[in-house]
Amino acid sequence: MFLPTLREAPAEAEVPSHKLMLRAGMIRKLASGIYSYLPLGLRVIRKVERIIREEMDRAGAQEVLLPAIQPRELWDKSGRWNVYGKELLRFKDRHDHHYCIAPTHEEVITDVVRREVRSYRQLPLILYQIQTKFRDEIRPRFGIMRGREFGMKDAYSFDADDEGAEKSYQRMYEAYCRIFKRCGLKFKVVEAETGPIGGSFSHEFMVLADTGEDAIVSCSECHYAANAEKAEVTSPDPASSLSTPLKPLEKVYTPEIKAVSEVSEFLGVFPQELVKTLIFQTDDGVVAALVRGDHEINHVKLRNFLGSHVLELADEQTIVGVTGAPVGFAGAIGLHNIRIIADNAIRGMRNFVMGANEKDFHYINVNLDRDFKVDSFGDVRMITSQDRCPKCGGLIQFFRGIEVGHVFKLGTKYSEALNATYLDKEGKERLLVMGCYGIGVGRTVAAAIEQNHDSDGIIFPITIAPFQVIILPLDMSDRMIAETAESLYKSLISKEIEVLLDDRQEWAGIKFKDGDLIGIPIRVTIGRKTLDKGSLEVTLRSKRATHLVKPHEAPSFIEELIKKEIYDQTE
Ligand code: ATP
Ligand code: MG
Repeated sequence: MFLPTLREAPAEAEVPSHKLMLRAGMIRKLASGIYSYLPLGLRVIRKVERIIREEMDRAGAQEVLLPAIQPRELWDKSGRWNVYGKELLRFKDRHDHHYCIAPTHEEVITDVVRREVRSYRQLPLILYQIQTKFRDEIRPRFGIMRGREFGMKDAYSFDADDEGAEKSYQRMYEAYCRIFKRCGLKFKVVEAETGPIGGSFSHEFMVLADTGEDAIVSCSECHYAANAEKAEVTSPDPASSLSTPLKPLEKVYTPEIKAVSEVSEFLGVFPQELVKTLIFQTDDGVVAALVRGDHEINHVKLRNFLGSHVLELADEQTIVGVTGAPVGFAGAIGLHNIRIIADNAIRGMRNFVMGANEKDFHYINVNLDRDFKVDSFGDVRMITSQDRCPKCGGLIQFFRGIEVGHVFKLGTKYSEALNATYLDKEGKERLLVMGCYGIGVGRTVAAAIEQNHDSDGIIFPITIAPFQVIILPLDMSDRMIAETAESLYKSLISKEIEVLLDDRQEWAGIKFKDGDLIGIPIRVTIGRKTLDKGSLEVTLRSKRATHLVKPHEAPSFIEELIKKEIYDQTE
């Protein structure tokens, strides 16, 4: 077997799953975010794909395979050629025609369906594929968890109306729950933002892991759970301070004091008594956004609030141009001719601190309306642990998660753009109502490892393990050991059990180490000492529990053990 294990992980690998996948010889890097899958890694990928296929088929979806390379014209029709940004890899062919490598397939599937589906009788329809995507991610990292080339299962539903679309959504949602459960993952389903794919609502399937890139919140009292990016802030304004008398505005000298922490320390005030002024570039020019010193601006919320495609922090030159001061001293007083947006929490503040738009100066005792005007207030910040559940007012808890799947209700965004219609019962032409549903195949494998490992290596859930059993003969030059191993190997294969036989002439210690590293759930150790007493050792990698079993009873013992492990994991 081609199974090049490593004792140490390359320095660039930061998270356990990336380290272990390299060390276990599952993957190798070719270029940034681009990986080869070696036999062990590919077997795991295929296991996850098989579970996905079974559950998609069970839910009534049908498998297709769409082209990875797609002409620009189609992406012009949806308008995404121009708005997708740099993640979309574009190139030209020999005739100078523009193409892209698909990061997702809404355009192509809508084009296929609009040409073939004419009548309500052909609906509903759910199509899916498992295929390679390319996204030129700004920061590929964590191995295949955030790659540039990666495998995705994407499904698309087409319905006659909203009600039908919601049923399809529910079907996919339930299929996803079964898929991730069968993969042995502990996950949370959260409300999510729709991002560049668009659509009206969506849920993300998050695998809980400390190394996850996403912050998620959930309510300790009700079922509310959301991506922190999406979580609404409905906490009331701190109305108590509204009765505080206004003090006179004063400009104070704050040499080289810029960051919130520096300003609050220098002036002896709490960060929540400060207001940060951030200058953004948007579709319609420059905007100032105000948030309380201890709060973080939420870019997604602010972008939605402004209805702008572009939202980037302004560069230094723009900030100097707008505020007349170097970065770090921006404030709202005297900022003319630009729109000022403020987070709701600012409404209740009195006598606060703010940049003076002048190098080395801040204002203290700033007050709304008296000292400057806000154009509009909104919920434009990140939720915090001091905020309350937007549904029931309960306490909010924070978790880290890895997004392995995403379901969107798209509505008619793409059917409208590509004119995908059907004829209803009355013969009237109507737009197809769509949904789209993605699972990152490689990311699911990485997430499973992130959740299931110890200091010795991977502990694969049995349903996605590359092999179910590894036979470890401690000394292949001992005829009795070798024969017992070969014979067990053959009987397991005849029972269609996936088994790996480590017949290398290596030290026992090395075999144990490699066996633990690659995470095969069941290990059979065959050594002189136990064999003389008429038994083999069968050990569960997850529990480190060992059973002594007679060689001729081993095949059926192992078969039962596998059944039990699968049952325990999925029930
Ligand atoms: P992210 O926020 O992590 O970038 P996304 O919202 O862009 O994800 P979708 O467009 O919803 O992702 O894609 C569907 C699924 O594809 C995701 O749930 C994830 O599992 C997977 N995926 C997305 N980007 C990557 C990537 N760069 N590498 C590996 N898997 C990915
Ligand atoms: Mg993305």
